[in-house]
Amino acid sequence: MTYTYNFNAGPGALPPEVLHEAQEELRNFHGIGASILEISHRSSPYEAIHNEAQLLIKELLVLSSDYEVLFLHGGASLQFSMVPLNFLAEGKTAGYVHSGTWSGKAWKEAQKIGKTLVLASGEEEGFKRLPDLNNLDIPKDSAYVHLTSNETIGGIQYKSFPDTGEVPLFADLSSDIMSRPIEASKFSLIYAGAQKNIGPAGVTLVIVRRSLLESIPGSIPDMLSYNVHAKHRSLFNTPPVFSVYMMNLVLKWILNHCGLPGMAARNQQKADVLYHVLDHSGGFYRGLAHKDSRSMMNITFGACSPDIENKLLVELEQEGFMGLKGHRDAGHLRASIYNAVPFEHCKSLADFLIDFQQRNG
Ligand SMILES: *Cc1c(COP(=O)(O)O)cnc(C)c1O
Repeated sequence: MTYTYNFNAGPGALPPEVLHEAQEELRNFHGIGASILEISHRSSPYEAIHNEAQLLIKELLVLSSDYEVLFLHGGASLQFSMVPLNFLAEGKTAGYVHSGTWSGKAWKEAQKIGKTLVLASGEEEGFKRLPDLNNLDIPKDSAYVHLTSNETIGGIQYKSFPDTGEVPLFADLSSDIMSRPIEASKFSLIYAGAQKNIGPAGVTLVIVRRSLLESIPGSIPDMLSYNVHAKHRSLFNTPPVFSVYMMNLVLKWILNHCGLPGMAARNQQKADVLYHVLDHSGGFYRGLAHKDSRSMMNITFGACSPDIENKLLVELEQEGFMGLKGHRDAGHLRASIYNAVPFEHCKSLADFLIDFQQRNG
């Protein structure tokens, strides 16, 4: 099967220009006679890529000099445990917003390390609507508040973030980082696996406020300590060099497409064309998330019966649409439309859905 359209949830689509560039310079990186995969992470060609990627992140997110940008291993899933290991001290409580599968996993890991409290939960509504973050009751001595900006599986996404006062706000931005401008100064720690919006799997981006690093106990194993990684500018051990290199290229691609405002405009247009079809199908299709909570990145939807859904999935495959089966936790269908997915592909999917309804409605 040859696919034309990539709607995979993660790893997701990469910009074709980036793949082309990486291919062009794979065997001979900038004329040095070796590939980027084969040289020391302490060599100047690699260090230039590494440092430039950190600067690009600071520029795109408009980060002040208060923040450290780290490139770690282990995926966003390792952050679920690293966050409490570093910051959930004994006697303190960490507040979690439980909005779906991913925030639930983060919360579950934190429970293994220390005391937690669910500040808001979407469980009663089947995680189809975002828990309200206005008027959160945050205990004054909380270690931090943790939330997930975009629940990749349920397809719900926060548009704004709470003010948590003295208590630091931490967020998993894995599936919507760099998809829109955010008020970075609200956050004390942000993490994201790269493989949805900013690169391939293998590198995890962590952005952490420098003043927090001092409180990290020295008893934490080096590889799990943000402080150790920050002191070594993410070169404590061998970083995932190829993933960092690819991320560097993707970040430049984002910058060349008008940065985060450009991504936001493009992503809104893509989401609109798909939600429009769902909302104007007379009930043949339905969005799974409440309208006020809908994600611009992962559009979860169903059709009027399981038989029709199965038929739709088979036909989508035949027509070259990849990755539309929903996650087993949410079922139905999901179109992941990360930064690199072009508008034209979303338009083709929208047109196909309309055509399918005409033939089966
Ligand atoms: C994909 C995803 C994760 C898991 O990322 P890994 O890099 O596979 O560990 C965590 N959180 C969110 C929101 C995700 O979308």
